[in-house]
Amino acid sequence: MNKYIEHSPWEIIENGFNPDNQEASESIFSLGNGKMGHRANLEEYFSGKTLQGTYISGIYYPDKTRVGWWKNGYPEYFAKIINAPDWRGIKISVGKQKLDLYKCKISDFKRVLNMKHGYLKKSYTAELLDGKKLEISSIRFLSIVNDELGIIKYTVKPLNFTGKIKVLSDLNADIKNKDANYGEKFWTKIEQAFVPFPFIVTETKKTFFQVCNAFVTKFFINKENFNPLKFRSFEKNKYLGYEYEIKLNVNQELTIYKYAAVTSSLYYPKDNLIDAAFKNLENAISEGFDKLFDEHKKAWEEKWKLADIYIEGDVAAQQGIRFNIFQLLQTYNGKDERLNIGPKGFTGEKYGGVTYWDTEAYCLPFYMSTNDAKVAKNLLIYRYKHLPKAIENAEKLGFSDGAALFPMVTINGEECHNEWEITFEEIHRNGAIAYAIFNYIRYTGDKQYLAQFGLEVLIGIARFWAQRVNFSQEKQKYVMLGVTGPNEYENNVNNNWYTSTIALWSMKYAIESIEFVKNNFPDDFKKITDKTKFHLNETEKWQNIIDNMYLPYDEKRQIFLQQDGFLDKELIPASEIPKNQRPINKHWSWDKILRSCYIKQADVLQGLFFFEENYDIETIKRNFDFYEPLTVHESSLSPSVYSIIAAKIGNKHKAYELYLRTARLDLDDYNDEVAEGLHITSMAGTWMSIVYGFAGMRIKDNKLSFSPFLPEKWKSFEFRIFFRDWLLSVKITDNSLIIRNLSDKEIEIFVKNENHKIVGQSSITAKI
Ligand code: BGC
Repeated sequence: MNKYIEHSPWEIIENGFNPDNQEASESIFSLGNGKMGHRANLEEYFSGKTLQGTYISGIYYPDKTRVGWWKNGYPEYFAKIINAPDWRGIKISVGKQKLDLYKCKISDFKRVLNMKHGYLKKSYTAELLDGKKLEISSIRFLSIVNDELGIIKYTVKPLNFTGKIKVLSDLNADIKNKDANYGEKFWTKIEQAFVPFPFIVTETKKTFFQVCNAFVTKFFINKENFNPLKFRSFEKNKYLGYEYEIKLNVNQELTIYKYAAVTSSLYYPKDNLIDAAFKNLENAISEGFDKLFDEHKKAWEEKWKLADIYIEGDVAAQQGIRFNIFQLLQTYNGKDERLNIGPKGFTGEKYGGVTYWDTEAYCLPFYMSTNDAKVAKNLLIYRYKHLPKAIENAEKLGFSDGAALFPMVTINGEECHNEWEITFEEIHRNGAIAYAIFNYIRYTGDKQYLAQFGLEVLIGIARFWAQRVNFSQEKQKYVMLGVTGPNEYENNVNNNWYTSTIALWSMKYAIESIEFVKNNFPDDFKKITDKTKFHLNETEKWQNIIDNMYLPYDEKRQIFLQQDGFLDKELIPASEIPKNQRPINKHWSWDKILRSCYIKQADVLQGLFFFEENYDIETIKRNFDFYEPLTVHESSLSPSVYSIIAAKIGNKHKAYELYLRTARLDLDDYNDEVAEGLHITSMAGTWMSIVYGFAGMRIKDNKLSFSPFLPEKWKSFEFRIFFRDWLLSVKITDNSLIIRNLSDKEIEIFVKNENHKIVGQSSITAKI
């Protein structure tokens, strides 16, 4: 835990410079615009500990797998969205002294991430070794209007001397991933030059993506355009920069604008990359900083109009949720179905920036509710396009006849994870992909999606489950052996309740969807059956499995069992683990963890969350009360699901406690790991804890329903959501729920099971 961020509703504020916090701040103050993003590394020299990170979505390298013992079926590589060229350098020196924030005396340091308008600002005074003082300030943003443009405005003012200042504005493409498996550099240089603008084109090895970074630096003194006469150029392989020398009088302010254009072969033919970047720079120069900054800020205001959650009466909670929403909006904008959401977004190398089940299980609801349906649909189409690879992936493991196993980790559809107990066994991910199709259609009403894309995926997934189970003569039931559930602190278990439950559900949903498409979209149905070679009689086997599947259950406690044998463990609440042994994954051997009863993240409860309507409240409560005390929440994905279920069963105190843990996880660095990057995908869980948890929002009979309560410390909370044809504003106070229908069409909703009609452009107030 490290609490140095000042509380404020719209800003993330760090006062005072502590180099020991620099890596954490680099994560927390990260910027992104959906297409590219970077950690908040300093523009200046910094010789202290830092994790440099600049990323471009979709640009990856297949880093050759490194494992101790090779197993058949392991993927050849781990795909990584790699650390990309860094255009941000603005390095100041006076004579031979560098302005190095690690070595100079820094005072009045303030760093602010302005979430409302999407920019990073910092200011400070630096005293160089010989006592010369400089006042520095900077603003940096990655435009969300023109997402191939980044801009820095940087000002320098000598406070106690008149003299020459050197400014090195550079571009470094000689970048190495810290997590490179073999210490290899992933970029090669294609071309670099200084005119008309300095630029470098680099190419990724093996995947051959090309990226052009070009920049231009402009100078103003006292707001007057100024061309420094003296400058030198520096050039090395994959590096270039201009160093300017500028004489400044005491208190004279030099303003530097650095514009950078980043184009990639994902969007341009390779021979057009440089021109496209130059054109972008020319436009940026002619429009100027103020205009570009203004339009960027306005675009952020528009985003917030739809996505904000306003909490009255609790600044820490307000800042926490806005930070989560801000980072989610920075990471993914749904414009390109080839892109997805890495667990750390653009804020670090861990997890390789690639796609996990987190997207379907956790992120989808946020994007469905805060954007029009197209954004969420693109997340689904991403997987649809990977279906052929999922079939290949299953074939590699010995499945056949169109069975599909989607990967645990991927960027292009190929499996990249290489721990056998996860790669081969954590197969519940397949269920999350089916569930996302259901969830998307249930929420948006876009039933056509099934005929166009969804059904093919569902058939592949159902076929996989049907082959993955086997019939136990002993039990006279189908069983699912050798799996890892969401709780990764158990491996290679038999009959994980969650995995078996979602498998059954996926087959059931596939059968229903087949019927639906057959009856409503017969032409599409014919195309799908031709393409997948599907025969209606396949569903008989699926139905037989559904009817005869074994799901572990404890009659005495009347709870679902996480897996066979769970009750043989020593069941000691997690609260009894000594504090100095937490988190257990950093203190215990793997052997000890596996044999313990401790649960990393929602497992049985993940199933109760997804399929809540199938269970009565007492059942949910009994399972929550049994599993919650055994849960250590050592995955950031965990507390949000527990918080939602706690809210459902009326355990308000627990719901709030768990909410706080998820909302300020990164800002207060609960797990001492924020330096590696932010927990982007779990941030969507935080959003769910408010909207599904405290507001109790659900879909019931095709209608929205709410069952809200107000956390004790709050005066009210308010959010907007898109639902089908409607945009609604929802406000919860201590005794009422106020819903405004911001669309023209009437909507019917439920509040605690009571039906309400809200005509267009009006509101209702319901007692809660
Ligand atoms: C969790 C997984 C998750 C992954 C990426 C792991 O720690 O156990 O469920 O997919 O992190 O967020």
